[in-house]
Amino acid sequence: MPATDRGDLTRTAILALLGTVGPLSRTEIARELDLSPATVTQLTRALIAAGMLEELDLRPSRGGRPAQRLGLVGSAGRAVGVKVTADHLVIVEVRLDGEVLGCWERSFDPASLSALDELADAVEQVTSRAEQDHPPLLGVGVGVPGSVDDQAVGTVNAPTLRWPAMPVGERLRRRLRLPVLVENDVNALAAAERLYGRGRTHRDFLVLTIGRGVGAAIVSDGRVYRGARGGAGEFGHVPVGADGPACGCGARGCLEAFVGADGLVAAAGAAGLDCPDVNALGEAAGNGDRRALDVFHQAGAILGRAAAGLINVIDPEVVVVLGEGVAHWPFWQAGFDRAVRAQLMPGRKDIPIEVESWDETGWAQGAAALVLATPFDAAGAAGEQGRLVRARLIGTAP
Ligand SMILES: [Zn+2]
Repeated sequence: MPATDRGDLTRTAILALLGTVGPLSRTEIARELDLSPATVTQLTRALIAAGMLEELDLRPSRGGRPAQRLGLVGSAGRAVGVKVTADHLVIVEVRLDGEVLGCWERSFDPASLSALDELADAVEQVTSRAEQDHPPLLGVGVGVPGSVDDQAVGTVNAPTLRWPAMPVGERLRRRLRLPVLVENDVNALAAAERLYGRGRTHRDFLVLTIGRGVGAAIVSDGRVYRGARGGAGEFGHVPVGADGPACGCGARGCLEAFVGADGLVAAAGAAGLDCPDVNALGEAAGNGDRRALDVFHQAGAILGRAAAGLINVIDPEVVVVLGEGVAHWPFWQAGFDRAVRAQLMPGRKDIPIEVESWDETGWAQGAAALVLATPFDAAGAAGEQGRLVRARLIGTAP
């Protein structure tokens, strides 16, 4: 391996370390990465000169003189994240430290013959904006409600978009000439949690999402578990009722068919409520309508039982609940809490289940995190596209 490559790898390792554990002194970096102090001094000097690291406060060290800590510069890079849904796109531009620079929404028809061109057009409008006031664009992340063969390839199988084997990554890379990472949308949220959230303190956690569909991402030993075909985490298709309603996947009685947005609206109809969508149902519950409150309570109980089953199987340290359905969580909560605690095995009854506030850019921010997490991704889930992202970050892109 040429010496310059080795130097680049070491610089990436320093960025990865600081991105993962936060600011450290040069001595601590040398110890963590098993490098000589002279090498760390030389490489960090170059990274500071490149505007990627900054010297922070002086921190007292035991017995010695105060140590100056080094931290990542949030503006050293940015990424674009795209969330694809059955009727619209949400696109965000995000800095390395997670700060959102801009957000756009536009309608989208995934069933159109020119869907991939329209997707590329929408992303290109954002990526081609004047760059002089912006840090370097590292790449584009795309989150889809379906399974993806490999982040760095990006062939998507998504029944809800009517996309069988759609070459999303290939088409976007050809058009944009940028690194493009494609991933299941819930797995992308888990990437964001690893970077900015639970992943800082937990190696094993579970992300559950509620909303239009129901999903899960399983993070085990710091890595998102993707399964053999990139389709792991389809929690919405756990069977919960033999004669339940028909599900979009073709089966009956799936969890999502009961507690996804359409399932809730159908349950409201069966209870004699006329609600065109789940927001109307939420409004009725907010006004104290007993039937609406019962629909949410039942949904909470069904979700709670299924979640307990999943928690019992994978044994996470903590569970995070996200997604647009969280807006109505106060109505789900009593049913959920009772059911989940009743079904959890002894020793797991106290597992923290944290329901986070949610805004509509959350999914797209997760997609951007696929790119922003790449320099810190020791597991290498981003593959060849991740190598290109790292090259752009350390300024050695061809
Ligand atoms: Zn299903």
